[in-house]
Amino acid sequence: MAIKRLLIANRGEIALRIHRAAREMGIETVAVHSTADADAMHVRLADHAVCIGPPAAKDSYLNVAAIIAAAEITHADAIHPGYGFLSENAQFAEIVEAHGLVWVGPKPEHIRTMGDKVEAKRTAGALGLPLVPGSDGAIEDFGEARALAETIGYPVIIKAASGGGGRGMKVVNTAEELESQMGQARSEAKAAFGDATVYMEKYLGNPRHIEFQIFGDGKGEAVHLGERDCSLQRRHQKVLEEAPSPVITPEERDRMGGIVSKAMADMGYRGAGTIEFLWENGEFYFIEMNTRLQVEHPVTEAITGVDLVREQIRIADGQPLAFRQEEIEFKGHAIECRINAEDPWNFTPSPGQVTNYHAAGGMNVRVDSGLYSGYRIPPYYDSMIGKLIVSGRTRNGAIMRLKRALEEMVIDGVKTSIPLHQALLEDPEFQSGEYTIKWLEEWLAKRAS
Ligand code: ADP
Repeated sequence: MAIKRLLIANRGEIALRIHRAAREMGIETVAVHSTADADAMHVRLADHAVCIGPPAAKDSYLNVAAIIAAAEITHADAIHPGYGFLSENAQFAEIVEAHGLVWVGPKPEHIRTMGDKVEAKRTAGALGLPLVPGSDGAIEDFGEARALAETIGYPVIIKAASGGGGRGMKVVNTAEELESQMGQARSEAKAAFGDATVYMEKYLGNPRHIEFQIFGDGKGEAVHLGERDCSLQRRHQKVLEEAPSPVITPEERDRMGGIVSKAMADMGYRGAGTIEFLWENGEFYFIEMNTRLQVEHPVTEAITGVDLVREQIRIADGQPLAFRQEEIEFKGHAIECRINAEDPWNFTPSPGQVTNYHAAGGMNVRVDSGLYSGYRIPPYYDSMIGKLIVSGRTRNGAIMRLKRALEEMVIDGVKTSIPLHQALLEDPEFQSGEYTIKWLEEWLAKRAS
C-alpha cells in the first residue's frame, strides 16, 4: 500500500466512516474541519487535524486551496472526499492529482461526464443501459419541447442538467403548463446551479427507485454488488433504504447487474459508483450515475460483507479488485434509516446540544454517527446526524430488529426523525414491501390530515 496518510475532506458520520476504514488498513488519517466542527468525533479520533476555515461550507469544506494546503502541511498522500461537498467536483479531483496526491475517486473525466445529466444519459444510452424516454440531450426551444412532449405523452418532467439532491425538477401535466414550467425550471436551474440547461423525460407514474452499486478497477474490469431500494423518499430525498429490493428476483439482479457492470467495464470506470434507475412494471430506466460513495452504502456492506471504503482506497492505490463477480454472495436483508436532527413531522431542523446519547447495539446492528453526550450539533450543515443499519436473515427479521434497535437509541436534547421511522415500521404497507417513490409523501399527508 503506497497510501500512508489519508486526508478526509468531509465531516460528520462519513468522515468517521472513512477514518475507521483507513485505521483498519494501517493508514493514518488527517481530519480537516471548520471552526464549527472542532469538537467533532472524527476530529478527535484522527491522527492529525487541521482547521480549514469558518463554518460556512464555501469557506471550509468547499475551500479547495485550504484543503490542498492542509494536505501539504500534514504530508498526506491521498484525499478521500466522502459524499456531497467536493466529491463530484471533477476540477477538484484534477487539482488533487496535479499536486501529486492520490484521489480516492473515479477518473476526473468520468466525474465530469456523469455530473452533467444530459451527457450522463447520452453515455449511459451508448453503453447499453435502458433510458427513460425523453429528449435526446438538452432541450432549448419551446416548440421542440412541445413536439417532444406530444410524442412521449404527458406528464413529462423537466430536469436541470446540473441538478442534484432532488432539486431542479418540474413535473408538467398538460401542454398549457409546459411553457411556464419550462421557463421556471430554466431560471431555477440557473439560480441554483449556475446552468440553465434543462432536458425532458417522461414522468413515470409510480416507479420505485432502485440503484446498483458497482466497482471498477479503471482498467476494464468491473463488478456489481447488487441493488438497493431507495423508494422511500420525501421531496426526492431518501429516508430509508434497503437491500436487496423486495421486488427484484435473483435472476433479475444477475441480469441487470451484468448489464451495469459490463457498461462500467467498457467505460474503464475506476472506483465506486452507483447507477440509479427508476423501475416500473418490471422495467429499469436509467436516471443518473453518482460517481462517489453513497449515504446508503452500508446496506450493501451488510448483505455482501464487503467494506466499500476499504475497496475504494485499495483501488485508488492501484490494486486490482479484491473479488470477482462469482465471489460476491448476497446474504439476508439489510435496512438503513437516516436519523436527522429535525422535527419528525414538520421536518424543521433541530440543531443544538445532545444532552444524552446512547447508541443501539446487539447482533447485526450498526450505528454510523459522530454523536456523543454533550455534542453540539451545528446549525450550518445537513441535518443528518447518523444512520442506523440493521440486518437479518429475512426482511421481516430485519424489520423486527430495526424496531428493537430504534427503541434502544437515546438522543436527548434535540428532536430527531426516530419517531417517524418507528411509525413507518408499523405500517402494513411498508411491511409488505409494496411501496413506490410516491408512497411516503402520501402516507405523511394522510397522517397529517
Ligand atoms: P437528483 O440528482 O436530484 O437526485 P434524480 O435524477 O436522481 O435527481 O431524481 C431524483 C428523484 O426524482 C428520483 O428518485 C425520483 O423520485 C424522481 N424522478 C426523477 N426522474 C423522474 C421521472 N422521469 N419520473 C418520475 N420521477 C422521477
